[in-house]
Amino acid sequence: MLRATLAVLIVLSPRVAAQDTPPFHGTRPATLELANVHVVRGDGAPATGPRSVFVRDGRIVREPIESPAVRIDGTGCYVLPGIVCTHAHLQEQVAEIAIPMEYQLDLWLASGVTTIRDVGSTFARSLRIRQRSTRGEIAAPRVFLYQQLGPADTPAEAVARVDAIKEGGADGIKLWSNQSYRPDVLEALLARAREVGLRTTAHIGVGESNALHYATYGVTSIEHWYGVPDAALDGVQDFPPDFSYDNEVDRFRYAGRLWREARPERLDQVLATLVDLGVAWSPTLAVYEASRDLVRAQNLPWFADHLHPALERFFRPNLASHGSYFIGWTTADEAAWRESYRIWMQALRRFEELGGTITTGEDAGYIYLLYGFGIVRELELHQEAGFHPLEVIRHATYNGARVLGQETEFGRVMPGLAADLIVVRGNPLRNLKCLYPTGCDDYVDGRSVPTGGVQYTIKDGFVYHGPTLMAEVRAIVARDRQR
Ligand SMILES: [Zn+2]
Repeated sequence: MLRATLAVLIVLSPRVAAQDTPPFHGTRPATLELANVHVVRGDGAPATGPRSVFVRDGRIVREPIESPAVRIDGTGCYVLPGIVCTHAHLQEQVAEIAIPMEYQLDLWLASGVTTIRDVGSTFARSLRIRQRSTRGEIAAPRVFLYQQLGPADTPAEAVARVDAIKEGGADGIKLWSNQSYRPDVLEALLARAREVGLRTTAHIGVGESNALHYATYGVTSIEHWYGVPDAALDGVQDFPPDFSYDNEVDRFRYAGRLWREARPERLDQVLATLVDLGVAWSPTLAVYEASRDLVRAQNLPWFADHLHPALERFFRPNLASHGSYFIGWTTADEAAWRESYRIWMQALRRFEELGGTITTGEDAGYIYLLYGFGIVRELELHQEAGFHPLEVIRHATYNGARVLGQETEFGRVMPGLAADLIVVRGNPLRNLKCLYPTGCDDYVDGRSVPTGGVQYTIKDGFVYHGPTLMAEVRAIVARDRQR
């Protein structure tokens, strides 16, 4: 068997060519040892190690394994639970160009994502991907499908849609309608979802119902932030007379002016109520970042080799592409969004202080956000919000599993749980940039030394080699740019 100590963790070269693929890439060894690693458990506990983590039949086990089928020497590496991305979309195509399934899935895995909550996609296709991922037939994160409910005008219509979603095999429901659901419709559909055992998450549109209504009627979690400051306004937002909600330049421009209108004392009460009612929050800070710094978003260094031509076209400012609203974007818009981020981040800290559960979502495929890279950026922004890296990692792992109702299945490095693990070169507690699949650098004796990068992503005991996945991503991009 492959018992050798494979010297796969190349210390000085961040680039590993495809021919360096370890022979166990994509396989599920019966037994596995991750040796000499530091371990971050995922529940906020401090790191331990260096030590070994043992896996048998896809589960983390406490007892040492004498002669593991695969042993990875992780000297200098940290092991974390795999990341749970609570806001993802499996995208079949954008801008009328197909997105290869492998491109998207490889980027997520190579960035340490072992679970996605899909909140809107081509459902039949996503069902097949979920099934193939569960069976280990494709290199993919675990998939939890939250099917979009879409607009519903009456309680009866909403209940029928919930039943149809249950029937179709979804894991949960994503509530999304451009204007928020009417309170009576919302009450009926959330009651029905509870009855049939479906969890829910909501992108709350602007309308009569705000986050307090969604929470009162029992929504499981809230996406982004819409509906939260709305619940702390005096009346409606101060929209100018010529504002149209259907125009995305208007919509996102004034979204960036909403938080400042929330009354601080009322906002605090809203947050306390959400916490009391047990609603979790998936803020997706990274996907709005272009609004506060457009030049940064448009010039991310990894675009050169990793941006698929479909996304490249879709991201060009154009009102026909959702989220590509940067036409006439001004310094004042960026300043307003920066102020929004400050209040939003403060609200997130307060929410957690009161006992609320925060997760990490991405929403990549929109607004210059690339799959995988987006979730790492999300973690960095949680640190910017004031959370300790141990708390950030808890948001990204254990909390995500809890919101999915899977905390006894995965989300922590703990005996008995599924082996959803990542092996990261360097110490992400010192620098979260270590998690970027393209790595980062360290300052050693006055020199820049390459480090970082997720070396291995292990999902349900299947081992994937990060640099090999990234080589495949670059090959797909190069091929499709030719076409
Ligand atoms: Zn989304």
